[in-house]
Amino acid sequence: MQFRDLRKQYELHKSDFDAAIESVLQGTDFIHGKKVVELEKKLAEYVGVKHCITCANGTDALQLALMTWNIGAGDAVFVPDFTFFSSGEVVSTVGAIPVFVDISEETFNINPKKLEQAIKKVKTDGKLVPKVVVAVDLFGQPADYQEIKRICKEYGLLLLEDGAQGFGGRIGTKKVCSFGDISTTSFFPAKPLGCYGDGGAVFTDNDEWAALLRSLCVHGKGEDKYDNVRIGMNSRLDTIQAAVLDVKLGFLDEDLEACDKVAKSYSEKLNGSVGVPEIRNSYFSAWAQYTILLKDSDERDKVMKALKDEGIPSNIYYVKPMHKQCAFVDTLYTVDDYNVTTDICRRCLSLPMHPYLEEDDIRRITDVINEAVK
Ligand SMILES: *Cc1c(COP(=O)(O)O)cnc(C)c1O
Repeated sequence: MQFRDLRKQYELHKSDFDAAIESVLQGTDFIHGKKVVELEKKLAEYVGVKHCITCANGTDALQLALMTWNIGAGDAVFVPDFTFFSSGEVVSTVGAIPVFVDISEETFNINPKKLEQAIKKVKTDGKLVPKVVVAVDLFGQPADYQEIKRICKEYGLLLLEDGAQGFGGRIGTKKVCSFGDISTTSFFPAKPLGCYGDGGAVFTDNDEWAALLRSLCVHGKGEDKYDNVRIGMNSRLDTIQAAVLDVKLGFLDEDLEACDKVAKSYSEKLNGSVGVPEIRNSYFSAWAQYTILLKDSDERDKVMKALKDEGIPSNIYYVKPMHKQCAFVDTLYTVDDYNVTTDICRRCLSLPMHPYLEEDDIRRITDVINEAVK
């Protein structure tokens, strides 16, 4: 059994993928090809924002957003304590200080109350200037944007949505990657919309920022790439990846509906014996992960072993809170005890999640888990 079945997906749509890749090979427009331009248009339309600028990966996408806003030394950027390393890494890359904020146990996403407390504390301390909130749509569920936007407005902060795990998710009809002043995603193969290598994208409605982003991702180009008006990056999505993504975008919604059915079936069979993910009312998750909570780390070890013995893969996302990553030790700015994240890191476990899991597979997986925790 696969944790995320990319092979099955390839086999099901093989002729489309092969034809799309072949056509780029024939066209030899490997960088900045016409498929890249087409894809950006389609992605912007899908999300419902004015501009989509593709780039080399989801980490660069976040960094490009911070560079666009000129974030750097002396600035505080608020980041959830429970996320993939990139969400905080880019803050340090541009020379600013990441201020980690604890999460809500129910959603795994940044806790708005604690965010507000953190902003107040940084303001009172007076050492850093609060500038940006990074909200992550962790495991596929959009963050609590109603509250987060209210807070950003009240304190004059910019909102950066890290939608790397949430692409295709939504609140009501409003899609992930449309919530931030700038939003980003990743096309890493295992993400909800993944390519066959690395890729990423930045989304915004703001014309001026879009123009800056277009410059920053090609060496800070001015009139052309040999006229350099600012320090930028070399961060581009190549045309083969764009062609792959164009095929996948065609069946993304269908796949996500199938994942949502899998999640519902998991939760039905597991509820009562382990903690199951809660999706808020009118929220739709892209199900980058289906993550359960065990009683403690001993029970998690037991469940992982029982699954492994049956040939069922499972993974721990994430083993360590961000504030415990030693890369941040010199700049750590503590605003909380991070009890929720610390506790969840000891108890969380992600199960196989993809559109091709059958009822029989789900039954097998949940039987093993229910038996192990008895
Ligand atoms: C995967 C991921 C990223 C980084 O994406 P890459 O394309 O691997 O650079 C950033 N943030 C989150 C939340 C992610 O899951």
